[in-house]
Amino acid sequence: MSEHVRNYRSLQERCKKIELLILDVDGVMTEGRVTYSGETEVKSFHVRDGSGIRLWQMAGKKVSLISGRNSPATQLRASELGIFPIIQGASDKRPAFRSILSELQLKADQVATIGDDLPDLPLILSSGVGVAVADACEELRCSADYVTTKPGGQGAIRELIEWLLRAQNGWEPLVSGFSVPALEA
Ligand SMILES: [Mg+2]
Repeated sequence: MSEHVRNYRSLQERCKKIELLILDVDGVMTEGRVTYSGETEVKSFHVRDGSGIRLWQMAGKKVSLISGRNSPATQLRASELGIFPIIQGASDKRPAFRSILSELQLKADQVATIGDDLPDLPLILSSGVGVAVADACEELRCSADYVTTKPGGQGAIRELIEWLLRAQNGWEPLVSGFSVPALEA
């Protein structure tokens, strides 16, 4: 068996263990721009990332987020999507990561973390599956198990969720629930 195939199989096995997705916010849930309207911060989130998170939760999985910054818009979006726990203002994300694992009683190999910049690197290296968005910094892309084809804020989270659920044989059952014509439902 080639090294490539062996690594691929090992990654498939690691994907099957994932129960929790930890998201970075700026540059992952958003495109990474910080926009102000007066003193209010305005963020744009991708709706299909949101529906992907719903699908992930329908599969019985959890979603959490760790942000280096503090933003009411992040709190609002997290509440809307049932993302919990959320930790904002984490200048060092490592203690936040340990705190979430402890709160949810999960091990690092049950976590997939997605990020875009250097503060996410320790988490990418510690997670069962570490993921970088397509436009992440080079160090993150080189260290990740998977680099999404979509950039942050443009469906990268949805792509990751679909990829993980396919690896767990959980995608098709969810999709089949949407395949019943409206007049037969
Ligand atoms: Mg970021």
